[in-house]
Amino acid sequence: MDCLFCKIASGVIPSKKVYEDDEILSFYDINPECKIHVLVIPKTHIESADAITKENSMVVAHIFEAIPKIAKLAGITNGYRVITNAGPDSCQSVMHLHFHILGGEKLPEHIK
Ligand code: AMP
Ligand code: ZN
Repeated sequence: MDCLFCKIASGVIPSKKVYEDDEILSFYDINPECKIHVLVIPKTHIESADAITKENSMVVAHIFEAIPKIAKLAGITNGYRVITNAGPDSCQSVMHLHFHILGGEKLPEHIK
């Protein structure tokens, strides 16, 4: 499948890793929108939050369980924002479910 984040998940395309386990990968965003900007993805291909179902939502729970640990590993100490874009109006640009973790500084009210 021609999916950028599937390629990053499988290691075909390199990334600057923050955290990895059997099910998920976290890496620094290539174009950070704030001081610390990391992404978390499931290794399995899910198109967006709009494609989350009873069958695949376990990995989403796993991502949210890992987010506090990932934020700490990335050096975020004073709070963060978690964002996911789904579909055209959200400006989702990579069609593989990902959560942005934004922090490391006081964030403006609207970012990402
Ligand atoms: P979204 O607009 O929510 O689909 O976010 C996609 C994000 O992926 C953007 O913030 C991009 O900067 C980021 N991105 C695109 N290509 C790469 C890459 N090769 N490595 C890391 N982040 C990337
Ligand atoms: Zn994918």
